[in-house]
Amino acid sequence: MIWTPLNSAIESNSSFLLSSHQSLDGDCVGSQLAFLWYLKSRGKKAVCCCADPLPQKFAFLKDSEFITQNKPQETFDVLVILDCSNIQRLGWDVREAGAKTIINIDHHRDNTNFGDLNFVDPKAAAVGEVIFSFFKECKIEIPPHVAESLYTAVMTDTGGFRFSNTSSRVLSVCAELADMGVNCADTYEKVYSSHSREGLALQSRIWSTLSFHLNGKICSMDMPMSVLDEVGAKYSDSEGMADNTVTAAGVEVGVMTKHTPEETHFSLRSKGNIDVGKLAKTISGGGGHSCAAGCTIKQPYREAMEYMLSILEKELTNL
Ligand code: 5GP
Ligand code: MN
Repeated sequence: MIWTPLNSAIESNSSFLLSSHQSLDGDCVGSQLAFLWYLKSRGKKAVCCCADPLPQKFAFLKDSEFITQNKPQETFDVLVILDCSNIQRLGWDVREAGAKTIINIDHHRDNTNFGDLNFVDPKAAAVGEVIFSFFKECKIEIPPHVAESLYTAVMTDTGGFRFSNTSSRVLSVCAELADMGVNCADTYEKVYSSHSREGLALQSRIWSTLSFHLNGKICSMDMPMSVLDEVGAKYSDSEGMADNTVTAAGVEVGVMTKHTPEETHFSLRSKGNIDVGKLAKTISGGGGHSCAAGCTIKQPYREAMEYMLSILEKELTNL
């Protein structure tokens, strides 16, 4: 990647607003914090604003309190958007930022290159890895707390180093981050073993909806949004549950739905034979990676699920 335009944009501007996709994950959080640190270290004014709150499990990361939903009153020179394949995924109106330049840093292969400057590397497992390359290639020394943010970004986007994007390159990036001071076991525990009781109660409700379809090739779990209030959990407590839908033997695609009476969001997971990113893209607004993708169907659960299963049935017959 040629970083000169990014360095020039940073040096020639003074205020930056950082944002990432709605329903924040570890890559959004880790990459925002790393980039926030860098901009501040260059003496820039830098602020993060996201459509959704910081999931509690990432609160251990230094400076995570700067990731807020507070819409800034002032305007910014540059808007930096991380981990978003398109501008709609931000979940808020970027015009509110009044920025004259948009920098788009991402790793989704379906990124629409919506920025004035685009740094999209579909080979990277996480935006955290893209930012790591930027730091490394520009000889920027990474302090331990920033290494921890980048490690969290890569660890979470590889599902704790178990998805097909876990390559030797990814592992060597993480080895370098560990050498910079990341405590791998501690980071894993903070992210994956720090559920609240309400969060686990929510997960048990979601597990109770486990179903198999199409000769056991498809597994699904469902979360009606109303269950959140019933158990006193937050939306972010359901993060990661979609990954459980492909843990059964014989399953090709896992489907995790989250629905209101009006619409149904699908988190899709694949073991590798079916490209769920392509599949999600056939539905308006949908997209993602080949093994993890998502889309929303503006229909109640039953109808939306019936439609999704009909698409999946066709995919299975083409295998
Ligand atoms: P998750 O299922 O964990 O929310 O998302 C898995 C992947 O699919 C992520 O890379 C995420 O950005 C992408 N994704 C999830 N939902 C949507 C969606 O509605 N539209 C698009 N374009 N991508 C999505
Ligand atoms: Mn990502």
